[in-house]
Amino acid sequence: MPDCIFCKIIKKEIPAKIIYEDDMVIAFEDINPQAPVHTLIVPRKHIPTLLDITTEDRALIGHIFMAANNIAKNKGISVSGFRTLFNCNKDAGQAVYHIHLHMLGGRRLAWPPG
Ligand code: 5GP
Ligand code: ZN
Repeated sequence: MPDCIFCKIIKKEIPAKIIYEDDMVIAFEDINPQAPVHTLIVPRKHIPTLLDITTEDRALIGHIFMAANNIAKNKGISVSGFRTLFNCNKDAGQAVYHIHLHMLGGRRLAWPPG
């Protein structure tokens, strides 16, 4: 998608602090971190929202969570704990319409979220 900021990061047209990438996903640091660890795990495939995934994307969604599993261990937050989430549409505050799994950790996270 030409106007998608995350597609541009995937194509290396704009910079990001990339911490992991493979043939299906890329993970980079959020530009406005909300916790000591705030990583975004993003599929290379442009999918606007979680509502747009199909059965074709089953393996991809599983792969995103396997990446989260590995990143949590590599970042040293697996024991202390962390949160993963997809924001979807307006009420969740989705700002970038290319799905991304937020991974937050390194501090105590409030529940319920605001
Ligand atoms: P959303 O609200 O769509 O779930 O989250 C979008 C996230 O992307 C926000 O946490 C925001 O800080 C982050 N973000 C937006 N633009 C950029 C960017 O250009 N680079 C990086 N690294 N993060 C971005
Ligand atoms: Zn995109």
